[in-house]
Amino acid sequence: MTASIKSSDQARAIRYAVLSDIHGNLEALTAVFDHLAGVGADALLCLGDVVGYGADPIPCVETLVQRGARLVAGNHEHGATGRLDLRWFNPHARQAALWTASQLDAAHRAFLADLPLVLEVEDATLVHARPGRPEQWEYLITAEEGFEAFGGFTTRLCFVGHSHLPRVWALGSSGPAFEPAPEAVRLEAGRRYIVNVGSVGQPRDGDPRACYALWDLGAGVVSLHRVPYDVARAREKILRSGLPRYLGDRLAHGR
Ligand code: ZN
Repeated sequence: MTASIKSSDQARAIRYAVLSDIHGNLEALTAVFDHLAGVGADALLCLGDVVGYGADPIPCVETLVQRGARLVAGNHEHGATGRLDLRWFNPHARQAALWTASQLDAAHRAFLADLPLVLEVEDATLVHARPGRPEQWEYLITAEEGFEAFGGFTTRLCFVGHSHLPRVWALGSSGPAFEPAPEAVRLEAGRRYIVNVGSVGQPRDGDPRACYALWDLGAGVVSLHRVPYDVARAREKILRSGLPRYLGDRLAHGR
């Protein structure tokens, strides 16, 4: 598929923006869209947790829908729509889920509750947490956790979110590889990949800038991008909305 795109002058290379864990942070999402306008992307994929923690859940959902994004559900969609017992959430996440639930009208609640847990696009699987058993909401963080998850999907690529930590795992012809702070990965023949695209709206790797991935089918590259945004404004909105202060403060530290 990649070769046929490359060999044709007429065919336009397809570039997907892959976003995850926006968490109601409209300032971060807007900054990513501004960045994308310069970089160029043909389509939008979203790995869940559009809502939860941040002050703008509905504007974030609306923005993605207007732009034709294809979405899977995260645990925060399930938490805010009654599909997941909030006893599984830590106290801040539980408080945020209850606040988010109070913001949703019936139409948005139904939309979020009905999102699929898994989608396949081109030769990639999209899932919020662990492929193969997405409803368990397990994190892929260590090298081992990623390598063990390759049996959970059959496509060449799998894009995940959930941990808010960008990562790349690769298996195949030249042996296993793990990159905990990736900037770009060139997709090689005979290898399969899991890519955690990081978090748009609440990064936790010590870099407060919004994080997203660009999947370029023509070039055969997945690149990760960091975008500064108005953290102070996103934090201020969280404080004014009555959400836990910690959820605003952590944005400044990217933790
Ligand atoms: Zn999340």
